Amino acid sequence: MSGEWRLFVAVSLEALAAGPLEAIRTEWGSRLPGLRWVERSNLHLTLRFLGETARERVEPLVRRLERVERPAAGAPVRLAGGGAFPQPARARVIWLGVEAEWLAPLARAVEAAIREAGWPAEERPFQPHLTVARARRGESVDAAGLLEGWQGRLWAAGSVSEFALYRSQLRPAGPLYTVVARFPFR
Ligand code: ATP
Ligand code: MG
Repeated sequence: MSGEWRLFVAVSLEALAAGPLEAIRTEWGSRLPGLRWVERSNLHLTLRFLGETARERVEPLVRRLERVERPAAGAPVRLAGGGAFPQPARARVIWLGVEAEWLAPLARAVEAAIREAGWPAEERPFQPHLTVARARRGESVDAAGLLEGWQGRLWAAGSVSEFALYRSQLRPAGPLYTVVARFPFR
């Protein structure tokens, strides 16, 4: 058994994003064969990536995350717009934008909790995005056509009622995520 778990903190967006993903994939899947599409049950917004974590650090981390201040249940969220990292013509990641007033404060509170639990500060700024497809490892795709007309587009509107700590197991067939602990909104 492994002594470390690959962890991240995220909000599941399966309910909200499965429809848009299906529509985009139906239109573009065969035109962009270099993309691997995210499994619908894996659709999520990462609040904080923790990476490989010794097993004995997991429980104290969960205890600390339980004290994070959360928004009220049914917190509104919209999927709007989108883009590619690092750029449309040589995309490695295709994402949809995620808009919610409560998102940045929650991400800050999660970051503070994780630092209190002994992790170093995250250097990269929080850029809320929902990954829907990735280029195969080491490759990139020209997604300029795919992304045309995405700016300002509203994909879906809905609500969120929890965040969670996930374990990720990387496999050739794609990552397997499992919930380590759930943190329901108020
Ligand atoms: P794969 O790596 O097989 O494409 P994945 O990226 O979904 O799958 P992980 O690499 O375990 O699986 O990542 C889990 C989540 O954390 C994803 O949302 C990913 O974008 C994010 N993530 C991974 N590595 C980092 C990192 N170094 N910094 C910030 N976020 C990261
Ligand atoms: Mg990854």
